[in-house]
Amino acid sequence: MLRVVMYHYVRDLPNSRFPRIKGMLADAFVTQVEALQAQYEMASVESAYAYLDGDYVPARDLCLLTFDDGLEEHAGLCTEVLADRGLSGVFAIITRSTDEGWVTPTHKNHFLLAHLPLATYRDAYLERLRELAPHVNVDVDPDEVSKTYRWDTPEVAAFKFVLNFRSPADVKERILDAIFEDTFGDEETFGRELYLSWDDARAMQSSGMVLAGHSHRHEPLSSLADQREELSRCATLLKTNCAEQERWPFTYPFGKPHTYNDETVASLRAAGFDCGFCTLVGDNVPGTSRFAIQRVDPKDV
Ligand SMILES: [Zn+2]
Repeated sequence: MLRVVMYHYVRDLPNSRFPRIKGMLADAFVTQVEALQAQYEMASVESAYAYLDGDYVPARDLCLLTFDDGLEEHAGLCTEVLADRGLSGVFAIITRSTDEGWVTPTHKNHFLLAHLPLATYRDAYLERLRELAPHVNVDVDPDEVSKTYRWDTPEVAAFKFVLNFRSPADVKERILDAIFEDTFGDEETFGRELYLSWDDARAMQSSGMVLAGHSHRHEPLSSLADQREELSRCATLLKTNCAEQERWPFTYPFGKPHTYNDETVASLRAAGFDCGFCTLVGDNVPGTSRFAIQRVDPKDV
């Protein structure tokens, strides 16, 4: 089988500015990579594709490492850990964030959750939501919520569900922009620290890493009227700012099956992407569509 691990924040959290960010500790990452390397044949994008297509039968199970969101620590710590061990990883970039220092609503939410008491933040959000979109239903089904956010407390998960799946995108963005600026000041300054730069991206390629798309604006793609434009913009920015690559993988934002559809896959192909990693939890066997490759969380490994 092919196991694909999906990383996000990888940090020395206790000594960072935001110790409450939900992420993997730097030491735990190193330990996990070494354990995976001992157990699996570490895959490249090429060997993973060949395996899924039935053209390659490895002696051991395969494991591929992927990193979503183009965070600064992916260019630093993670690339260093992989390169030192002769490994490669797939690093999926949110092109608007790397290009402009724009902080996605998802990440604004993570840092607000990590910085403010939950009640303070939630009340500020819901109060503005009531003003701007009074029709939004804020009552959620706890089972549905806990399946979507498996690692959050029920209170945090319920709030994130209202934020990401119930709030109209433009309203959510306006509210988060306001609370984020009140809390942290200038967004671009924050974003340039949070995300890797195009210089970082090229340096990662020189170290043997593979870059990938993670969309331009990090929205659930199936909810967009202009998926084709969204994905071609992402591809154009990657190809303009990075070195050439034979393969251009893609990881779906949010990544559950309802967040992408046939139009997404057609748009990805048209833009020159050759696979799509989702966040459905599981391993992959030959015959799995390249545009529905399942992944596991580091905590599942
Ligand atoms: Zn993401």
